[in-house]
Order: sequence, then C-alpha cells, then structure tokens
Amino acid sequence: MEMKKTGKVHYLEPQLLAAAAVSVQGFTTRHEGVSRPPYNSLNLGSNTLDSPHNVEGNRSLLARAFGTRLDQLVTVNQVHGVDILAIDAPNPDYAHFLKLQCDGIITNQPGVMIGICVADCLPVLLLDPVKGVVAALHAGWKGTAAEISRKGVEALVGLFGSQPTDILAAVGPGIGPCCYEVDEPVLDAFRKQGNGYERFALAKEKGKWQLDLAAANVQQLRDAGIAEQNIEANELCVSCNQEQFFSYRRDGGDTGRQMGFIMLK
Ligand SMILES: [Zn+2]
Repeated sequence: MEMKKTGKVHYLEPQLLAAAAVSVQGFTTRHEGVSRPPYNSLNLGSNTLDSPHNVEGNRSLLARAFGTRLDQLVTVNQVHGVDILAIDAPNPDYAHFLKLQCDGIITNQPGVMIGICVADCLPVLLLDPVKGVVAALHAGWKGTAAEISRKGVEALVGLFGSQPTDILAAVGPGIGPCCYEVDEPVLDAFRKQGNGYERFALAKEKGKWQLDLAAANVQQLRDAGIAEQNIEANELCVSCNQEQFFSYRRDGGDTGRQMGFIMLK
C-alpha cells in the first residue's frame, strides 16, 4: 500500500483496488483533521467523546476530498457482529444508518462512500470490478472469529452475483500481533466456531496468546474463494505507529477512529 494525500486526507491506498480504476478507497491516518487531543486530529468516529461538530467536520473533509458529500458518507453502529447492510438503491437519508447495528456495508451505488471506523480492529475492503460492487467490513477479534470477512464475500456472491475470483480485497492497518495479547475467552470464541482460525494466535506465556488478526482475515478471504494475488494486506501496527494512527488499547480507550473507506466512481 502506498501513502497518499488527496485534499487534506492522508491515507494508505491499496494498489490492487486502485489499479481497477472503478473506485476510490483507502485507510485514513490521523493527520490534518480538526479534532483536539486525544482525538487529534482526523477523528472520523461518531461513537467517541469528541465534539460531534469536529467529527462532522472531519467526515465532511473526507467526503469532499473524494468529490462526494457528507450526506453520502455511510457508516453504521458497529457492534462486533456479522450483520451486513446492503444498499442497492439511492436513499434520501443515509444518516439514519448511523443507528443501525451491523459490521459491514455493501453497495453498488456510485458516489456513496461506505466506511468502517476503527482504532485497533481491522477494516477490510472488497471490490468486485466486474459487477461494480464494493464492501467495507469491521473485523475485530469477535468479528474475525464469527467470520465477517467470509460473510462479506458471501454477501457479494449472494446479493450481487459476484464470482469470488473477480473480487479484490484490501486488509487495512490494525493492531499487530506485536501488541495484541489475548486470553483464553478469545481463543474459546475462535474454537467454538470450529473454523481453525485460532491457529493465528501464537502461544506466549501461560494463558496468553498474540493474535494476528490480519493473517486470520487474509486466510478467511482465501477460504472464501478470493485468489491470493487478489488480496493486499497492510503490515503496519496501529499501536506501534502512534504518529499515524489511533489505537484504542494503546491510548486507554479515549482516542479517535481512523476509517477504511471505499466508493464507486
Ligand atoms: Zn505493535
């Protein structure tokens, strides 16, 4: 992924998706927004204690940088589940989706920017350039255990007729295994699913593991039928890179949110 700047927005651009040239997408950093510490400065998460006015200013700045409007930027009330919102027709009021509890958004509507807000969890973006449909998914440990990435691919296939082999995927920056220690209940959640993704948690001291969320989601995307060469993952750990990214764990919970966003042209 390449660091880019469009308008005031500094973001990582996944090259595979950009090369398809049918959408704009990226993973934002914390630079050049209007929020004050500890939300400095491009806090895009409405579910924080930051001033709603500043968050709206930041979200507007993002939308405008890519040629759309604040009222065309769709985010949802993320709850670490696997429900996915599909938008397949223009809607007069995208803002009401902010209250909808789900962890993925899919759309085939050009000019509608869909986003997932994160500060440790992984944002996952999907693009099917053949059918003209995009997805943004929220993959924390709960969502990863419950296979949100696989369900995102299945939703594209089931709702929009996508072929998994046509889908391009980008896994954005999240907390790396270096900083993501988890305990037994987390491992149990994975084991209960019976999907084997707990193998991406490396045993540390007794009762502690280091979970590699990115590797688990990349594997899940492959298991869903996406070709290895069509998946681009980022190696940056948001906790290790304080200057660039918010991290919920590192900052003790009181911090901003970066966003994985994608929009069909
Ligand atoms: Zn780290």
